[in-house]
Amino acid sequence: MLFKGTNSYSMNSCETIEMFYNLRTDLDKLTAASNITKIIVDVTTENQNSYKVLQLFLNTLYTISETEKNIDLINSIFKFRLLSIIGFRPNIKECTNCKRTDNLSYFSFRDNGFKCETCGKLDKGAIQMLPETKDAISYSILCPAKKLFSFTVPDQTIKELTIISKIYLNEKLERDYK
Ligand SMILES: [Zn+2]
Repeated sequence: MLFKGTNSYSMNSCETIEMFYNLRTDLDKLTAASNITKIIVDVTTENQNSYKVLQLFLNTLYTISETEKNIDLINSIFKFRLLSIIGFRPNIKECTNCKRTDNLSYFSFRDNGFKCETCGKLDKGAIQMLPETKDAISYSILCPAKKLFSFTVPDQTIKELTIISKIYLNEKLERDYK
């Protein structure tokens, strides 16, 4: 129950709808939920419509709490989706340099998106990725909200997603999230 004051709201009472109980029974889950919460706090401001961010936040907490899905994968999907919602959607349609649409096998942080093999090799900071990694990034950005955590990928892809999403998040938000 919120009451609007002159400069801010004050909270009078509250009632829990969903506790995400399993977060407190597993240290890895708790750590992941805590890290995600820190990021959410940093990207939202009071009185700003954050419906999509809230929806993503709740979906992510639910998936961490109620499923045994790989936590690094959940984290990576969350980061790509969040960055896309708040205005840092990478260019995943074509090579950010030469505009060709096939053989996209690098992720460029300098140019915010995919690069073909030829252009990717010339971009020192770009990271080479497997076709599955490219597809997982695209899916994380484009799929309907309810299907966000519905896929799994091989371990090597999770490794690449973890590295790319971490660097991209830290660069865009100018932070150093662990
Ligand atoms: Zn190119």
